[in-house]
Amino acid sequence: MQTLPTLQTLDKIYAAPSQPALKPDPFLTIENVSKTYTTSRGSYTALEDINLTIREGEFVCLVGHSGCGKSTLLNMVAGFLKPTTGEVRLQSKRITEPGPDRMMVFQNYALLPWKTAFENVYLAVKSAYPDKSKAVKIAITQEHLEMVGLTEAANKRPHQLSGGMKQRVSIARALAIRPQVLILDEPFGALDAITRQELQEELLKIWQTHRTTVLMITHDIDEALFLADRIVMMTNGPAARIGEVLDVSFSRSNVCEADAALCRADLIADPRYCELRNYALDFLYRRFAHDVD
Ligand code: ADP
Ligand code: MG
Repeated sequence: MQTLPTLQTLDKIYAAPSQPALKPDPFLTIENVSKTYTTSRGSYTALEDINLTIREGEFVCLVGHSGCGKSTLLNMVAGFLKPTTGEVRLQSKRITEPGPDRMMVFQNYALLPWKTAFENVYLAVKSAYPDKSKAVKIAITQEHLEMVGLTEAANKRPHQLSGGMKQRVSIARALAIRPQVLILDEPFGALDAITRQELQEELLKIWQTHRTTVLMITHDIDEALFLADRIVMMTNGPAARIGEVLDVSFSRSNVCEADAALCRADLIADPRYCELRNYALDFLYRRFAHDVD
């Protein structure tokens, strides 16, 4: 007969270590960050007192009115801008410059117009993995073009691709480097509604497979509710702050494995979706409405 553990043995199994372990630094930390721009008309404080920690593998969306400082914040995570005060850390290391561990996708795709889809991705792979053989670099490029459904269009140049296809190339290029953080600044803002939904579903699938940490700006509350684990809502500038952080508690990550489109229908039907949506819209359009002259 199997013997059950006694209380003493259980105590030993679950005993707290005598020296409590130091709490590890969260994956991505934004600590006491402010950003003041110097302009010809004096200084302008865009962001003030920003504190946010992000877990590894988390999908965080940033929403707020135009001009409140969302891009400024993401540019500091990317390392393109330096905070005026405070710091941003990735795995305890202070971010001071751009690096392949943080890849950014922009609304306007930022592709090299004279290069094909394949070459745009390949160039990034080449600079990130200089020591890998050409065959491996080609394989990585092909794998990521396939991931976004662009195998057939690999030899087309940006002007021969639709907006959605161009954004797929940008996403493939960013992911091919295997960044620790994928940063997206209104990536689907220029796309029509149907392409936008398709790309949201693709991004969700990719995130579910790779669990890259994602930080994404969007103007679209429904997009944020569909994709994010948490939605960070910013107040208006100048000196914008984080107003509230919404936990998307009915996280779609469990439901969406099979079919992202079905998952969207399920989500919209969920009363909690409606509640969070109303809450976020109230924040943006009543509590922090833009002043209308
Ligand atoms: P968002 O992405 O939320 O629309 P931004 O981060 O682009 O906002 O800008 C926040 C504020 O900072 C805006 O008022 C903008 O005009 C100002 N700003 C952004 N970049 C600069 C800059 N390089 N110099 C001066 N002001 C800037
Ligand atoms: Mg912006």
